[in-house]
Amino acid sequence: MQKILTRHFNQSDSHRLDFYLRDKGYEGARKALTQMTPAQVIDEIKKSNLRGLGGAGFATGTKWSFIPQSNPKPKYLVINADEGEPGTFKDKYILEQDPHALLEGIIVTCFAIGSHKAYVYIRGEYLKSIERVHGAIEEAKQKGFLGKGIMGTSFDLEIIVHQGAGAYICGEETALLESLEGKKGFPRLKPPFPAVVGLFGCPTVINNVETVSCVPPIILNGAEWYAKLGCERNGGNRIFCVSGHVKKPGIYELPLGTMLREIIYEHAGGIRDGHQLKAVVPGGISASILTANEIDVKMDFDSLKAVGSMAGSGGIIVMDETTCMVWAAMIAARFFAHESCGQCSPCREGSGWVYRNVKRIYHGEGRKHDVANLPGIVGNIGGNTICAFGDAVTMSVGSYVQKFRSEFEYHVSQGKCDLLLNLQESAR
Ligand code: SF4
Repeated sequence: MQKILTRHFNQSDSHRLDFYLRDKGYEGARKALTQMTPAQVIDEIKKSNLRGLGGAGFATGTKWSFIPQSNPKPKYLVINADEGEPGTFKDKYILEQDPHALLEGIIVTCFAIGSHKAYVYIRGEYLKSIERVHGAIEEAKQKGFLGKGIMGTSFDLEIIVHQGAGAYICGEETALLESLEGKKGFPRLKPPFPAVVGLFGCPTVINNVETVSCVPPIILNGAEWYAKLGCERNGGNRIFCVSGHVKKPGIYELPLGTMLREIIYEHAGGIRDGHQLKAVVPGGISASILTANEIDVKMDFDSLKAVGSMAGSGGIIVMDETTCMVWAAMIAARFFAHESCGQCSPCREGSGWVYRNVKRIYHGEGRKHDVANLPGIVGNIGGNTICAFGDAVTMSVGSYVQKFRSEFEYHVSQGKCDLLLNLQESAR
């Protein structure tokens, strides 16, 4: 299998420009700037079936085409490097080990959308990533790949790095824009969409690190080559982050459409010895959980949507039979209650209500109607809020209750968690 995104990983000095140039570095950008028009670049990305790999899975070329070129205002590219979805740790590796792949992708993207200024919004805790991206920008400037008249053309480009402050919601694209503008990270009502009214009121494309890093190889090798690597309407590879009860947790670059079973049992080495699979979160904590009987599914945006979950950020969290699903739901609910920005009452009040309810059940203090009430509470959050965070609460916590309801009912009827007691017993 051909590696694209991780091809430079774990090699000495892979973050340096000299290393990057030895493997056709910046040749994709040179080709775009000297041999193609912006419209041709957008067309190539559309044909490649590159999807937004941050979570939404929107067609990247189509997103770029929404920028109104007739609008006289400046256009901006904003890179979302605020990787905060639990179970997800892929952009970190790209930023640390191959920052020039991102910078080259930024050059091509900005050329395509007519932008001369790009912002990279990096999660505040990613100190090494921030340092590496700053270093790469300096190297690229010195080589004439950034700044005025880059690569001898008339195209100018400046890249600014912005360090986030740790709020999960700032990974939501419009909250990220608010934060970049120096305001509280509150998601905006849409429409208007960022392509029309984005950063500082100007047309803006917001793309994820992994997505933009795929752009240079597509320009160099062609859309057809990239599209064929993946599956229908889902071009290329993506990096899957596998964590939890597998023998080999880590990141795995694989074609979109790879079977979930294959990722768990072949690439990640299977479930730890003596245990069996119980459940999997396939796309970061916001995705609906799948049972052990639901893992014969292709890991692409359309296939996971068809089974009621989502490909999301590519974070695969594997749980074996020792996991109490009420406990797992409580952890998810606590996360959502903590990270809700508080703007909309269904999310602000509902996420806390869900957390208190599940917490009570987990601790054996559940009331008679707590389990029966949960689907209604979570169900009334999604679809009634400003941003998709509310939908995530509904999808995530709702799926635990729906698929493992008997465990919730057992906690209430017995006033305890046998799974936990058994584990404590076996650990003695
Ligand atoms: Fe904030 Fe939640 Fe409303 Fe999103 S859904 S804007 S996170 S309160």
